[in-house]
This record gives sequence, C-alpha cells and structure tokens, in this order.
Amino acid sequence: MKMEKYSAFPPGLARKYDVHGPRYTSYPTALQFGDFDAGQHRAAIERSVASAATPISLYVHVPFCASPCFYCGCTKVISSRRQPAAVYLDYLRREIELQGALFPGMQPVEQLHFGGGTPTYLTLPQLAALFEALRRNFSLRNDAQREFSIEIDPRTIDAGALRGLAGLGFNRASFGIQDFDPAVQDAVNRRQSYGQVAELMEAARAAGFESLSADLIYGLPKQSYHSFDRTLDQVIRLRPDRISAYSYAHVPGRFKAQRQIRLEDLPNSADKLELLQLTITRLLDAGYVYIGMDHFALPGDELARALDQGSLQRNFQGYSTRGGLDLLGLGMSSISRVGDVYSQNARTLPAYYSALDQGRLPADRGVRLSADDLLRREVIGAIMCGGRVDYAAVSARHKVDFRSHFADALADLGGLAQDGLVELRNEELRVTASGRYLLRAVAMPFDAYLRRKGETAAVVPQYSRVI
Ligand code: SF4
Repeated sequence: MKMEKYSAFPPGLARKYDVHGPRYTSYPTALQFGDFDAGQHRAAIERSVASAATPISLYVHVPFCASPCFYCGCTKVISSRRQPAAVYLDYLRREIELQGALFPGMQPVEQLHFGGGTPTYLTLPQLAALFEALRRNFSLRNDAQREFSIEIDPRTIDAGALRGLAGLGFNRASFGIQDFDPAVQDAVNRRQSYGQVAELMEAARAAGFESLSADLIYGLPKQSYHSFDRTLDQVIRLRPDRISAYSYAHVPGRFKAQRQIRLEDLPNSADKLELLQLTITRLLDAGYVYIGMDHFALPGDELARALDQGSLQRNFQGYSTRGGLDLLGLGMSSISRVGDVYSQNARTLPAYYSALDQGRLPADRGVRLSADDLLRREVIGAIMCGGRVDYAAVSARHKVDFRSHFADALADLGGLAQDGLVELRNEELRVTASGRYLLRAVAMPFDAYLRRKGETAAVVPQYSRVI
C-alpha cells in the first residue's frame, strides 16, 4: 500500500514537534559509534560476501574545498593549493586497493557517489585517474543499471569537464545551489549566479546526465520570504529531477566557519517555519513529489518510483534508491554499512594517512549491531522510507511480539496519533500524509539510545531541529 502523497503542511504541529532529533541516515546514529578495530570491518565484508554476492554501493569522499562556505558543517579541508589533493589521491588509491581485495567475487558496483568537500575541486585528469583506480579494483557496472553520481560545485567546473565526467560513466549529478540571492550568497561566502548554474545544468543534460538534483538551504542569513520565493522560482525553472531543501542549523560552537555569520542576519524560528512551508507548497504545486524529510523528486524520477515500490533507503547522503545494498565508504571520514556493521574511517588526514602507511584499513570507529539494534533499524527505516510498519512481518523476522516489545514506544505515539500524524491500527503503524513532514518525531520513540537517556520527547542538542 502506498502513502498518500499530498497534504497541506501542518505548521501548528510542526511548531509543536520541532524537537532536536536524529536524521536517521543510520541507526544507531554515528554518535553511538565507538572505538573500533578495522578487523571487524573486514570480518563484516567476509560474512556479507559469503552469504550473498549482492551488488554493492560505493561512496568516495573528497574532502577539499577552495574556500569555506560559512554555513557548512561537512568534514572538509580548506586549501587553495593543489598539492594536498595529489597526496590524498595517492593514499585514496592505496585504500581502494586494500578494500577492493576484500571483494574477491567482484560483486557489481551498482551505485557510486563522489561526495565531499568538493569532488570537482579535483581536475578532470585527477578524477579520471581515481575512476580508473576504482575500475581496476571493483567491478563497476557500465550499463544503464548503474547509478553513478557526483556532487558539483558550480564555481569549480565548466561544460567541457561535465562532458568529461559523463564520459567516465557518471550519469547523475547534484548541484550545490543553496540560494540565488546575492545578499544571501555574500553572507555565506558563496557567489554563483543563476545564469552560471542554468548553463551548467543544460550542459550536463546535453552530456547525457539522466538525473540532476539541486541542493537548497532555508534559514540562511539575509534570507527572506520574498528572496527565497525568487530562488524557488528560479530553481523550478531549472527543473531538476530532484530537489533537497535542507534546514540550516546554526551551531557555531561546533562549526568554526559559522562564527562568520551574524546572529542578527538569521531568520527567527517563525520565519524559518514560513520558509519551510513556502518551499513545500511551491514544490508540490510545481509537480514535485514529497519523498520525505527534505527531499523532493519529479514523479518519473527513480527516487519517486522507489517510494512507490518500497525500495527507498536512508543512507549518509539522505534518501537513496536500491535499499539493502552494502555500502562501502572510501576516503577520510567516510562511513561504511556492511551487513550488521557500521564503520567510519579516520576523520583527519594525518590519522587516515598513518593507517594506510602501516598497510591497515583506516576504519577506527564503528559499531556492530545487536539483535535489538537490527530490529529497531528495520522499524525506523520502515517509518522514514515507507511510512508504515507491518507488525506481523517484523515480529516474524525478528522473533518478537511487536506490540508487547514496543509497548512503551506505541504508548509514546499516542499523542502523535491524537494529533493526526500517525494511525495506530491493530496490525500496523501508518504515518499519515501530515505525519510525513515530521517523520523524525514518529521514529524517535523506537530509538533505544534516546530512550535510555529519557530523551524521546525532549531536547537532544547533539542533533539538529526538525525546522
Ligand atoms: S558547502 Fe561544500 S563547498 Fe562549501 S565549504 Fe562545505 S563542503 Fe566545501
């Protein structure tokens, strides 16, 4: 059964449920990762390879950026010099060889994503060499089944380089736009014009990219209802297949670059709620399907089809298609999800290089999921991706009685049911069309780590807010 697709955004309820909460790109979340022996990552791959030679998904992290965008909370290295990237690529190649050797059956790589930082900080020859290293060590698909994507910083690329990327095999690209208003761009130190982005998107389509996506951020300094409305107009005119509209989280204590943002330039929470409401209304009116959290897609896009077919998944980039593939992260700070293990590579260049100098896999944090973690991961994933939990199916797979096992979580959801965000039926939990805008609030009662801290309905400051 499918979820209802359209509903008015419920601002009153959004205000009520605007708690801090995990984005559930993983469960348990990265906050629960602890010290970790890379041998556990290797063992997880061996178990996975022995049980089923399924296709895999690769993520490659390129941490460099030429200049800081003041809103940014990514793991990155700011450098205007090119030499550090050459050194990094050398180490990345070593990691690719070590990790590739763990997949002797050469399972096909169906999904590949280059993220950052700024992947297009690398020159086309550097990207081609990196791609070649992946081809030598993994079995990259080269047919229409492949989903190979790259994050594009429009300030760092031209039409020729886009054609080059398509020639390597990339067929999806996401463009970092954030906001087209010059005053907002100045306030966040990221200038790029509408014309520049429009030209590049057109060039990407002509080069054969099948799906383009645009990233926006609401809640940025100097942003107003009218300025963001103009940005949305321009983005809708570009007609990207997917749009992500992220909420800006101002945490200057944690992200140094954000200290450049003046508090008085930021929209207040009521303004931010209006910006969110505006975004949702404008994109739905323009024919986009609401996928969940901050993602929208045109009805024909694979993400919208995956929502219909129940094959949507959460991963570290947000929503993705082809649920269930093992995900292997390559590069500094990247996270892998293989079977019942999450592992994260060293988060600084010196630590990443040091592990590889010793011939070791660079994973140094992670967690192996317990039976209870696996059960809760499935339930939270079902809420975040499909908006429905079938009690009997989950009970049978995990050998529990769902209703008694989760009696406390179901009791906590009573208030959300009264507010019309979720329906608690005898045989299933179903998120309503309004509840889909507040998926985190529905998922949080099933999070054992929040429950342990008594934080299911309270403020959890390590996580961002819903709005
Ligand atoms: S937003 Fe992207 S380009 Fe800007 S600093 Fe962050 S990672 Fe780099």
